[in-house]
Order: sequence, then structure tokens, then C-alpha cells
Amino acid sequence: MQYQSTRNKAIAISSAEAIKMGLSAEGGLFVPESFPTVSVAEIESYADMTYQERAYAILSKFLTDFSKEELQACVDKAYTVEKFQTENIAPVYKLNPHTYFLELWHGPTCAFKDMALQILPHLLTTSMKKTNEESEVVILVATSGDTGKAALEGFRDVDGTRIIVFYPDHGVSEIQKLQMVTQEGNNVGVAAVNGNFDDAQNGVKAIFTDEEYKNLLAKSHFKLSSANSINWGRLVPQIVYYFSAYADLVMGEEITAGDEINVVVPTGNFGNILAAYYAKKMGLPIKKLICASNQNNVLTDFIRTGEYNKNRAFHTTISPSMDILISSNLERFLYDISGCQDSLISDWMDALKTTGVYRVTDEVKAKMQELFWAGCADDELTMAKIAKCKEEYDYVMDTHTAVGKAVYDDYVAQTGDMTKTVIASTASPFKFNQSVLIALKGYPAVAGKDEFTLLEELQNQSGMRIPQSLSALKTKPRLFDLVCEKEQMPQIVSDFLKID
Ligand SMILES: *Cc1c(COP(=O)(O)O)cnc(C)c1O
Repeated sequence: MQYQSTRNKAIAISSAEAIKMGLSAEGGLFVPESFPTVSVAEIESYADMTYQERAYAILSKFLTDFSKEELQACVDKAYTVEKFQTENIAPVYKLNPHTYFLELWHGPTCAFKDMALQILPHLLTTSMKKTNEESEVVILVATSGDTGKAALEGFRDVDGTRIIVFYPDHGVSEIQKLQMVTQEGNNVGVAAVNGNFDDAQNGVKAIFTDEEYKNLLAKSHFKLSSANSINWGRLVPQIVYYFSAYADLVMGEEITAGDEINVVVPTGNFGNILAAYYAKKMGLPIKKLICASNQNNVLTDFIRTGEYNKNRAFHTTISPSMDILISSNLERFLYDISGCQDSLISDWMDALKTTGVYRVTDEVKAKMQELFWAGCADDELTMAKIAKCKEEYDYVMDTHTAVGKAVYDDYVAQTGDMTKTVIASTASPFKFNQSVLIALKGYPAVAGKDEFTLLEELQNQSGMRIPQSLSALKTKPRLFDLVCEKEQMPQIVSDFLKID
């Protein structure tokens, strides 16, 4: 199978090349030229398979240039019980007869980005080898929290890779900072940047566009790459768990193979919900894709009106991984739904860049509304849903998942649709312990308490165990106490790679 760009469909490259390059030269995103289909009988056969077998079955349809051994090795290294603390890797939890949570947060950093970032490093190093790239890949990440840690855990000790993460010294939570400065691994580097997320991000971008500096790296056989969510190697692993969840429902006799389900996804960059759309396109019986946003509801408005308008206030919410005004993976959906009109997509993306606004055609809008239902929830409603879900079902959701639940409840109230529904649960409640505890017990329950007291408090409240990776932070040595200025970032990279 060949891959083309959303802004130039004449491009035809292998999946290994697409994964190695990340982004197409003209700015477009790589997409498969066609989509494999999966029959109901095949989906039914997944019921008896392990997560790893399901992953192999789906991924092999897209990464056709990978040999069986190559792909199998990637899957086996990524989805281990040791890393995910559960045989199922992505278990489904039944809340009530028509609502299920797909728990995507059992990986090493307690959030769903592990599902992709545990396998991406292996897909990437395999792709490098397959395309005869001899340099060692250096991953540079600027992070506002979750992605940096998930990337560090994914790339740690992966041969042929180095990873350096920059985070804003003021701008990540205490627990996120602890997760990063205690990072272990023989190929990892972490530094705080004196500034905010934009400073860290601009510093990384400056390195990526500095040809002279990249030549210097090339002389030492290093090649820069990024691990961000537009890489096909991050998106394709996400398709797997929608098939897996469906197979689990079949196996548990909650549904019969062929029955339609709804899927709810708390959305930021539109990556996770795009994967669900691709699963539907491949034949997974999904009725409605329900797109849930927080107060940064640019997608809600877009799906309802057909106009994407990022010119609005940015809100800092209690579901920070969804605080996004430009949902970069939406481009892949628009390309698909518009019938692969690359020049039209280029025009819309140019308009977004220059004016912050674009409007899709009535035809695209109608198709989009047929597929999706969209809603949003503010912090107050999100908190109320966490408390109510605990009270009614004794189940504790994190803040992102709660946005999904709030929008789902709204969907049911407005449509009366009682189709069985899977809600993507994207983070462990322990990862956002402070907001979750406030939702459950009010502000006094958290006032003046440190992170570890909060974790214990939440353990007592929820009856869930603190994830081992979080409780271990208390005793782990701090390995990276470096704080640098934005201008010093290239030097930090050079020092870490030991080049001068
Ligand atoms: C990244 C993230 C999201 C948003 O996912 P997208 O693929 O960007 O839409 C939702 N919840 C959590 C916890 C995340 O880390």
C-alpha cells in the first residue's frame, strides 16, 4: 500500500518512508491511498485473539512494506503486560447495560498516548532500517506535559534512538515535572526551559529549521525527528483499539457481531477520533462518532456549522490535554470526506493559517453531520459528572473522560438513542488527582496537600490502586535538574549528543 499527502495526492511512498518523514514536504499529512476493509466474520474472529494479535491483524493491512517478522517484533516490544499492567492492554469496563469505557490508560504514563507512543519508536527504527537510513534518530520534543513523558517512556533504551524533551519550567504540573526529571534510560535527556510552552516549542522549531545546525548533526550521523501526533506511525496504532473493544463486546456477549455501536471520544487534536472514523470506514459497525470537547469547543462549532474558526479565546481547563484550538488531524478527515481533493484542502489550510477561518462546502458539512455528533462541556459540568458517576456507579473518571461522559449524556438526552456506546477513557484519574478530588470532595480536601498525599487520598476515595509508576515517583532520584534559556537549547542538544 502506498501513501499520499493530503496536499499532494501525486505523492506515492511506502509506509516506512511516511513514518520516517513524519510530515510531507509541502506541509500535508500522509494518508493511505485506499483503506483495507474488514468483514464482520473477520471482526468476529478477533474475539478469540489477544490484543497483540488484533494489533498485528490491523497494522499488517496498512504497513504492507513491513515483513511479518518486522511488524510482529514491533507489536511484541510495545504491548507487554509488564508495561500495561494488564493482559488486556486496553480493557473495556461496563458501566451500565448501554455504556462502556474503553480504558486506554494502563500504560506506563497512565494516559492514552502510551497506546501509540509505545509502538512508534519501533515502527520508526524499523522504517529507518528499511529505507537504508544509517543515521541515529534524535527525537526532539517540546511538551506541555503528557506527550513528553509518554515519548520518553516509549523511546527509552530503544536502540538507534536518542530523545531529548524540553518542558516549560513554569507550565507543567508538579507530577508531570516529577515524571520527567526522574526519567530513566540510557538515551534520554530532559531540560526545563525558562519560559512558557511557546518558548520551549519555538526553541525546538528553531532547531528543526536551522540548516547549519542540522548539517553539524548529520556529520555526526544524527538525524532529527519528532514524535508528534501527525505522524502516521502514531495514528495507525490507534485504529486497533476500536476493533479490540468491539471484539471484547462480542466475546462478552454484550453484542452480536454486526451490531452497531456508538463511540464517544474526548477530543483535542482529532487524532483519537479520526482513528475511530477510519475503523468505521474499514467496516467496524459504528453508528455515530460522538466528538466531545471542553470549553475550547472549536470542533463542536465546526461540526455543527461547517465553519472552523480558531479566532477565539483560549481557555485553560481541568482537561488540559484537550486545550487545543488547531486540531491538526482534522486535515486527514477533510481530505477523505471531500473525496481526496488535495488542492481544496491546501486552500482551507492556507486560509486557516492566514485568517484563522475556513468554511467547508455544504456537501462536506452534510456528510460530516451524518457521521458525527458534537458537543462540549465546561469545567463545572465535567466536575459534576465525575461526582455523579462515582455516586451512581462507584466508578471514578478522570477529567478528560468525564468530558466524554457529559457529552454522551447530552447526546442521549437529545436523541433518545440507546445504542450501546463505548466511551474512550483517555487518562487514569490519578494523573489528574487534584481536579478529580475537588470534584469528589470539594476544595478543602486538597488544600495544602502534596502530590503523594493527594494520590493516597484518591486511592481511599476511589478504591482503585495508585498506579505503580506514579507512586514510585516518591522515591526515584531526580536525574535532570537542568534549567536553560531558550537560546541555549541547541547547546543542550549538542552536549547531550556529545558533539562540538
Ligand atoms: C491527548 C489527549 C486527548 C486528546 O486526544 P486527541 O487525539 O488529541 O484528540 C484526550 N485526553 C487525554 C488524556 C490526552 O492525553
